[in-house]
Amino acid sequence: MKRKKLRIDRILYCLIFFILLIFLIKFSINFTYNLILFNGVKKNEIITINKSEVKVWKKTVNYIHENMENVTIKHKKNYITISSNDFKNGLKLDTKIYNKTINEKIFSNQKTYYIENNELIKKSSKLKIKVPRYLYKHNYVDIYVKNKNGYELYEKSLKVTDKYVLFKTNKKYDSYYICYIYLDNISSSSKVNVNVNEEKKLKITLNPTNPTSKELVYEYDKKIISFENNTIKGLKKGSTNLVIKSKNDKTKAIVNVVVKEKTKSVSKEKEEVKEEKYETTVKDGITYVDGIMIVNKTYSLPKSYNPGGLTEEFMDAFYEMQSAARLDNVDLFVASGFRSYEYQVDLYDKYVSEDGKDAADRYSARPGYSEHQTGLAADINAADSSFEDTPEAIWLDENCYKYGFIIRFPKGKEEYTGYKYEPWHLRYVGKDIASKIHNAGKNISLEEYYGLESKYKD
Ligand SMILES: [Zn+2]
Repeated sequence: MKRKKLRIDRILYCLIFFILLIFLIKFSINFTYNLILFNGVKKNEIITINKSEVKVWKKTVNYIHENMENVTIKHKKNYITISSNDFKNGLKLDTKIYNKTINEKIFSNQKTYYIENNELIKKSSKLKIKVPRYLYKHNYVDIYVKNKNGYELYEKSLKVTDKYVLFKTNKKYDSYYICYIYLDNISSSSKVNVNVNEEKKLKITLNPTNPTSKELVYEYDKKIISFENNTIKGLKKGSTNLVIKSKNDKTKAIVNVVVKEKTKSVSKEKEEVKEEKYETTVKDGITYVDGIMIVNKTYSLPKSYNPGGLTEEFMDAFYEMQSAARLDNVDLFVASGFRSYEYQVDLYDKYVSEDGKDAADRYSARPGYSEHQTGLAADINAADSSFEDTPEAIWLDENCYKYGFIIRFPKGKEEYTGYKYEPWHLRYVGKDIASKIHNAGKNISLEEYYGLESKYKD
C-alpha cells in the first residue's frame, strides 16, 4: 500500500514537471515569435502593441538591440511593451505608423492563409496565399485547387502582391497549389557594342529564376551578327536588335547590338558611354529604367503601392554599410524609412500649411512622388541641414556607393532632381549601378545619369 502511494506521487511529480516544461517551451516560442515591425522608438516612449496585431520581423529587433541601449521589451499576455531611456543611437519612431489606419494596413496579414510546401495550412473564403520567396516581385501565377477529382485550374494569371496572392473563393478545397509560374521578365544589357569578328557573351537573367517555361527564342539580323550559346559575334558593320522572347510567356528583352569595324580611337569609349541607352519599362503604373524603380517629380507611384516597410534588400545593404561605418567610428541609423502614401498626404499637407506650396515642393514630395514610398530610400541620422558636413555625412558621401546606395539629391543639382541638397537621403540602387553613378562624376544625380526629368506637371 505504501509503495503504491509513492508511485502515484512520483507520477504526479513527473506530470507537474512535464506540464511546467511544456509551459516553458511555449513561453520561449512566444518570446521569439513576438518580434516587431517598426522603425524605432522615441526617447522615453512606451509602445503597446496588441499581440494579435504584431507581425514578425526578426532583423528589426536585432537591429534595435544592436543600436539602442537600455531597451526593455516586455512580453505580456496580450501585448508587448517597448521602452527605453536612452535612444541616442536608436531609431526614431514614426508614431503615426501605429495610428489606427496605417496600423491596420501594416498588420492586415492576420488570419491569412498560406501555402507552405504547396500545402494549404488553413481554409477560408478569402484567401491570401503566401508565395515562395523567389516570386515576391512582379509575378503572376496560376492557382490550382484540389477536389475529389484531383487538381483543377482555379484561376489563371493571378498577380503576386507584396508576397501574397489574394483571391476569393466560396468553396472549401482541400488544398491550393501554385502550378504555373510565369516568366515575368527577361533582363539583359540594353546595348552591346561589338567589333567585326569579335565575340561577346551576353548575360541573360530570368525573373523569377525558375519559371515553368525557360524556353527562349531569339530574333536578329543574321547578316549582322550570329548568336549562339548566349554569345554575340559581329559579322558585318551595322546594327540590329536582338530580341529575346519567352516561348510561352508574354515577355521579351531587346538588346541593341552595334557592330563596328575595329578602330583605335581613344575618345571612342567616352562617346559610347554617352550614347548608351537604357531600357525603360512601365509596369503596374511604375516606371523602371535600367531595372531601377524611378520615383521623382515626373514619375510617381500608384497610391496602392506599399511594400510594408524598408525592403529586405535595403536593410541587408544598410546593415553591411552600418557595420563598415562603425569601424570608422561613424554611427549610422535610419531616421525615417518607409512612408506610405497616406503618411505622405499628412506630411506634405503639414509642410504646405507651414511654408506654402512652393517652398514645400523644394524639400518635401507630394503624395505618390516620394521615394520613401518605395521602401528603397531612407533618411539617415537626421533630415535637416544640421547634418551637412558632419563626419557621418562626409562618410556617406564618400562610401555609400560601395554598399549600393546613392545620395539621391546631391549638392547643386536641384535643377535636375527638383530637390534641395539632402546629404541624408539615401536611395538603394544596388552596388553595380551605385558604383557606375559614383564613377560617372562628382555629385552626379540619378536624373542626369539616366537623362530623366523631374518636374511636376503643374
Ligand atoms: Zn528623405
